Amino acid sequence: MADAGFDYLIVGAGFAGSVLAERLAAGLNKRVLIIDRRPHIGGNAYDHYNDEGILIHRYGPHIFHTNAQRIVDYLSRFTQWRPYEHRVLAHVDDNLVPIPINLTTINRLYGLGLDEAGAAEFLAARAEPVADIRTSEDVVINQVGRELYEKFFRGYTRKQWGLDPSQLDKSVTSRVPTRTNADDRYFQDEFQRMPLHGYTRMFENMLDHPNIKIMLNADFAEIRKEISYRHLIYSGPIDEFFDYRYGKLPYRSLAFRHETVDVPQFQPVGVVNYPDEAIAYTRITEYKHLTGQTHARTALTYEFPSAEGDPYYPVPRAENAELYRKYQALAEARQNVTFVGRLATYRYYNMDQVVGQALAIFNKLAEAETGVAPPIELARAGSSY
Ligand code: FAD
Ligand code: UDP
Repeated sequence: MADAGFDYLIVGAGFAGSVLAERLAAGLNKRVLIIDRRPHIGGNAYDHYNDEGILIHRYGPHIFHTNAQRIVDYLSRFTQWRPYEHRVLAHVDDNLVPIPINLTTINRLYGLGLDEAGAAEFLAARAEPVADIRTSEDVVINQVGRELYEKFFRGYTRKQWGLDPSQLDKSVTSRVPTRTNADDRYFQDEFQRMPLHGYTRMFENMLDHPNIKIMLNADFAEIRKEISYRHLIYSGPIDEFFDYRYGKLPYRSLAFRHETVDVPQFQPVGVVNYPDEAIAYTRITEYKHLTGQTHARTALTYEFPSAEGDPYYPVPRAENAELYRKYQALAEARQNVTFVGRLATYRYYNMDQVVGQALAIFNKLAEAETGVAPPIELARAGSSY
């Protein structure tokens, strides 16, 4: 490629890279080239219509939820939303019961008719207090005791991470609360909605700017020498960037089995979890619940966790954090490279957190460029969404 003299080269067209591309192009009038080694934009949030015409998420279910109004305001420039509150059932003892564990879970599993106070007593009687909660096992045992831990968390976590919960940081299972009321929503965030026309459409709108050029099927390693740019923004795996100098950082992967079945509805909710270790997959997603699409058939995804394959999850445990810090020190020494996103900063971030991180980084870059920190409202004029 000829020397196009880009101000910024951005590696990765997921949330991290795309938010920064949009802000730099529209907010600061910079010339941006954004590349991705995949054949599409959107990163792991990419969705598309399958052969049967059903909207599916190629990399598993992505549900948008946040408490940060400024992140909603920002993304609302590029999409309208449809209301969706996520509900998950777990397949336990041949029942489908709500997860997070709640009043209904306890009553259904044990054939009881407890009220909220009764459920609190039930759990308190089983909880095994742990003085110093450090692991993902401690968190759950401390709240609900060993029996429920084994039914809902032990097998699922061992499959998902290839590690026992006792080997994982407490932050992993802390993502899933325990409730004594009948609230069966997976998330309690104020804003729970899905992009009305899907994530990919939202990314297309974000990147639709004359200052932004997009190059797909392009690995940074292949094209780095052919492009001239002033500053690099990198959202791929940080250990790969530094040629694994200190060894590989563990990232957990998944294999997805996508299928369409000849019934209008397969399961009662968007996601059913399978904690049983004898079943190879962790969960089944049925997208029509998430998207509201009507169709005579229905599309499903089974998730099979794996050590090999595309990196999806940083693995939260102390020794990995220590290794990451060594890479982070190398990253901080690079003046004209910025590391952003789930893979490059090795953080188990949700989509809204990645958007927040990217906007904060934009403010820093803008300050360096202009001497003034702009508010993120410094957007392109108007928006029709
Ligand atoms: P990514 O989306 O991973 O984007 C990075 C991009 O960089 C990729 O497209 C990759 O191909 C590209 N890339 C990497 N290296 C190179 C290179 N060398 N050259 C060129 N391109 C490169 N979050 C939620 O908020 N709600 C959910 O329900 C939810 N569900 C999830 C379900 C699954 C199965 C997974 C894996 C994640 C889920 N997430 C969810 C998290 C969400 O996917 C991430 O927070 C978000 O996608 C991270 O964006 P990112 O830009 O940091 O990374
Ligand atoms: N988890 C579990 N059983 C469940 C749901 C979650 O053991 O039914 C544990 C598991 O370790 C999982 C973690 O809690 O990785 C966080 O769950 P979450 O749904 O947030 O995972 P993600 O959507 O990020 O894969």
